[in-house]
Amino acid sequence: MAWMSSGSSNAALIKNLASNGLITSERVKNAMLSVDRAHFSPYAPYTDSPQTIGHSATISAPHMHASAAESLLPYIHPSARILDIGSGSGYLTAVLAALVGPQGKVVGIDHIQGLVDLANKNMGKSEQGREWMKDGRVKFVKGDGRLGYKEGAEEEGGEGWDAIHVGAAAKEAHPVLVEQLKRPGRLFIPVGDSSQYIWVIDKKEDGTVTREKSMGVRYVPLTDAPKD
Ligand code: SAH
Repeated sequence: MAWMSSGSSNAALIKNLASNGLITSERVKNAMLSVDRAHFSPYAPYTDSPQTIGHSATISAPHMHASAAESLLPYIHPSARILDIGSGSGYLTAVLAALVGPQGKVVGIDHIQGLVDLANKNMGKSEQGREWMKDGRVKFVKGDGRLGYKEGAEEEGGEGWDAIHVGAAAKEAHPVLVEQLKRPGRLFIPVGDSSQYIWVIDKKEDGTVTREKSMGVRYVPLTDAPKD
């Protein structure tokens, strides 16, 4: 299924993903059309497969980015705050930024400084990306994503996130990430070792939490930071 959606341009790739049923939402389609993967993926950007980006990391396949964005979509309103853990190339961070409005905020966090620098560089390749970095819609930070990221006042606990995306496989759905969700909020997280599944974890308005095991996947692991 993956390779079938490859195209010779960004527009052709997105069109093929949509005609193969891998993008079903018009909002996600438009967001992915507005972000050129070539700015984030140095090799074969329009192939529907993961590609190396250095530092032992990969940019995920386009159909996985589409699937994550579609899963989080009900929580992505114009002023939504989104955390992208394991932001790597910064591609999905950019797509999520295209989905929120000017009042929204997307923070990408990665534990490798070289990748934080790369994401900033990639985002700076387009007028749109430069504007988002300037007006604060997008920000990349270095840190251990297993701890989430706190920002904003709200009794020192941070403002919380409407949506959290995790782009590397976790050993468990870290409770601290669920804690950092707003009510309502959604966490999209691959969990597992040799066998991994996406878990979609929702915190409802009354604070109750539901967990749904979704598709089987293959992600690089969420790890300790490499020694410099
Ligand atoms: N969403 C990214 C995926 C990059 S691969 C993209 O499509 O480009 C997974 C990323 O997770 C790598 O960049 C890796 O450095 C990062 N990562 C692994 N463990 C981490 C941790 N504990 N905290 C933050 N980032 C981590």
